[in-house]
Amino acid sequence: MEEKINISLPVEVEYIIDMLYKNGYNCYAVGGCVRDSLMGEKPKDWDLTTDANPETVKNLFSHLQTVDIGMKHGTVGIIINDKVYETTTFRCEKGYGDNRHPDAVEFVRDVKEDLKRRDFTVNAMAYNRKDGLLDFFGGRRDLQYKTLRCVGDSKSRFSEDALRILRCLRFSSVLGFSIEPETALGMRESVQGLKNISAERISSEFFKLICGKDARFVLRRYKEIFKILFPEIKPLFETKIKYRDYNGVIKERTLWQYSAGALSFVKNYQEKDHEYALRFAVLFHCLGSPVMEINNITDCGFETLSAAVAEEILLRLHCSNSLSETAVALIKNRSADISEDKASVKRLLNKFGYEKTFLLFDFWQCIYRGINIPEIKKRYFASLKCSEMLYEIVRNGECYRLRELNITGKDLISAGIVDGKIIGSILNYLLNMVIEEEVKNDKETLMKKAKEYFLKN
Ligand code: ATP
Ligand code: MG
Repeated sequence: MEEKINISLPVEVEYIIDMLYKNGYNCYAVGGCVRDSLMGEKPKDWDLTTDANPETVKNLFSHLQTVDIGMKHGTVGIIINDKVYETTTFRCEKGYGDNRHPDAVEFVRDVKEDLKRRDFTVNAMAYNRKDGLLDFFGGRRDLQYKTLRCVGDSKSRFSEDALRILRCLRFSSVLGFSIEPETALGMRESVQGLKNISAERISSEFFKLICGKDARFVLRRYKEIFKILFPEIKPLFETKIKYRDYNGVIKERTLWQYSAGALSFVKNYQEKDHEYALRFAVLFHCLGSPVMEINNITDCGFETLSAAVAEEILLRLHCSNSLSETAVALIKNRSADISEDKASVKRLLNKFGYEKTFLLFDFWQCIYRGINIPEIKKRYFASLKCSEMLYEIVRNGECYRLRELNITGKDLISAGIVDGKIIGSILNYLLNMVIEEEVKNDKETLMKKAKEYFLKN
C-alpha cells in the first residue's frame, strides 16, 4: 500500500484552502514549500495554486487584505498575519519567443496541467490534506535521490526560459542535488538563451548560487555556462597554479578551481549583502592575473586590475553601490600589509570601518587557507591573529576613530583654540598617537599633547 504523505500546513494555508473548498474550488500548497516540507525543512514561504480565477480569489478573501501581484498571470497575494500567501490560478504557458517570458498564459481546469509547466520534478508537486500529495512526474523519487530533473523535455524547457538554467544550478548548489544527465545536457545546449535574461534576475540567482553549500562543485563542473555570463573568467580556466598539499605533494589546479574552492571557507553571514560581497571577491579576486600574463602588463598591479574587471562585472549585474564598493575594496586589498600588531589593525579599522575590516580578515583567511606555501601560510596565520585583535579592540571599546577619542573639539575650544582647521588637525594628530599607542587615551594627557602641538605649529 502506498504510504500516505502528511505535510503539516500552517493554519493560514489551511484556512485559504478550506475557504476555497467550501466555495467549490480546489486549492493546493505547491512548489518550493512542498519540496522543502518533504525534505524536513521549514519553507520560507507558502505558495498556493487553485482553479478559482484571480477575481474569484479576490472576492472570496475581500474580508482580508489582498494584493494584485500579477492578475494577468493569475497571482493574487492574500495577506494574513502580515505574511503574503501567493495564490495563483492553475495555468499553462504558451510560446516563449524571447527565452524568458511566455507569450501568453492560459488558465486551465486541471492541476496536472499546472504542475506540468513547472521547472523541475521536485518543484512540481502539490499537496492538500484531502487529496494528499500530487506527484505526477516522480518528484518524490528525485527528492530521495537528490536529483534535479526537468519536467518534460529538458532542451525545450530551458530554451523556453533560460532563467531555468540558473535556477537549476542554484538549486544544485544550495540543496546539494546533482543534475540528471539529460537535464544537464539540455542546459548546456540552451546556454545562449542566457544572453536574453535581465541583469537583475541573473544577479539574484547567481548570488544565491555562490552561497550554496555545493557552490564550488557547480562552478567547476558547469564552468562553460558561467563563461557565457562572465566571459572574463575564461583565462582562469587556462592558468594553472602549483600548490603543495598537506602531504607535501606538489599539485596543480587552475585559478578557477582554486577560486571556486576557496568559497567553501566562507562563513554564513546574517547580513546577506556582506556575504555576497565577500563571496564575490573570493571568486573573482584573480581576474587580473591571466590578463597580466597575456598582455604582459607590468605597470598595473594584479589587485588593481582584478578589482577593475570585477567592478565591471558588478556594474553589469546592476549590483548595489555598497555591495560593489565592498567587493572591490576587498579585492584591491588582497595583498595589503598584514602586521600582527594592534596599531595596524586599528589603522585598518580607521580606514575601512568595522564591517569592511572584519570582511577583509575573513577574505584573507578564505583565499590563503589550504595553500601550503610558507609565505601564504604566514599571511593566513597573521590574518587569524588580526581577527582576534579586532574582537579585542571592539570588545574593550579601544579607540580607533575620533568618536572614541577622549577629547573633543569643544574641549579644545574651551582651552582657547578656536580655529576649526587647527582643531581638526590636532584631533587627527592625537588620534594617530592613540592608535600607535604613543599616548594613553585620557583627557588630561591628550589636552597636554594638544597644547604642545598647538604651540609648536
Ligand atoms: P525558493 O523560493 O526556495 O527559491 P521555489 O521553488 O519556491 O524556491 P519560487 O521562485 O518561489 O521557487 O517559485 C515557486 C514555484 O514556481 C517553483 O517551485 C516552481 O514550481 C515554479 N517556478 C518558478 N520559477 C519558474 C520558472 N522559471 N519556470 C518554471 N517554473 C517555475
Ligand atoms: Mg518560493
